[in-house]
Amino acid sequence: MPTKYSLNDNIKNLTPYEPVHGDFDIRLDANESFFSLDNATKLKITTAINELDFNRYPDSSASKLISAFSDVYSLNPQNVTAGNGSDELISLIVGTFLSGDQKLLSFSHDFSMYKFYASTFGFDNVIYDKNEDLTVDIDKVITLANSDNIGAIIFSNPCNPTSLLMSKEDIIKLITNVNCLVVLDEAYMDFCDTNGSLLDSVCDYDNLIILKTSSKAVGLASIRLGFAVANTTITNALKSVKSPYNVNSISQAVGCIIFSDKDSITKKTAQIIRNTKSLFTDLSSIFTADGDIWGHRLWRWTG
Ligand SMILES: *Cc1c(COP(=O)(O)O)cnc(C)c1O
Repeated sequence: MPTKYSLNDNIKNLTPYEPVHGDFDIRLDANESFFSLDNATKLKITTAINELDFNRYPDSSASKLISAFSDVYSLNPQNVTAGNGSDELISLIVGTFLSGDQKLLSFSHDFSMYKFYASTFGFDNVIYDKNEDLTVDIDKVITLANSDNIGAIIFSNPCNPTSLLMSKEDIIKLITNVNCLVVLDEAYMDFCDTNGSLLDSVCDYDNLIILKTSSKAVGLASIRLGFAVANTTITNALKSVKSPYNVNSISQAVGCIIFSDKDSITKKTAQIIRNTKSLFTDLSSIFTADGDIWGHRLWRWTG
């Protein structure tokens, strides 16, 4: 029988995302927080969930959640869009902000989902290969970005997986010298000792989106909450293209409770930073003098 339908070429050969399965106390591969929630917070969550109107759609603008998030990072809520994880926002930005035969520019090595979403939407992905020491030559990125019908550049800073932090100056140079959208994924910026974030100046640029997630430092990977921060023009566009009820009421309620306790987020983050440093010290002691172990290098955390 002739087939009546065939999957489009972009997705035909894909297989479902398969995370590593198993019960592990610590999941370094997923960068999950090792903190769960304390009982007092869990009780607040239970109460909030009991009060939800389960028959109602969620608040499509997630306004209470966005205002609690904005308080923690000293932002204007007008500049914030909430998503079902920052993954959803990456998909949304790539899928709706690129058009025609525009391409996405991403880096190697970096977070794998950028390339994945570009390919599912049928956009070509141009890859900038980092220097051998995994640093980024910003002038090369700028040249690439301006030469090949690039619609957007996306990268993480600090980088997953290298942990390296690009300087603010380099990123500003990039944003101001390219003719495309720059999507700056600051998923790990909370772990930086130095303030490398551009969050406080995001509105100075007409082509910048900063992504934040609740899954790492904030320790809420289970409820899927991510945020895009940008000027109001970009924010209004994002809010217009997102699906109306993308963040469910339970996640909004939990997010409100967690982001209302900045002190707890700060303390947990500081503890994770301390543990990272002591893990680094302990691992260093078993590495050979030239930094090699079993053929792998140990990269210094520069956050
Ligand atoms: C984990 C991670 C994300 C995904 O965050 P979610 O909000 O859980 O979807 C985004 N970017 C980077 C660089 C990450 O490592």
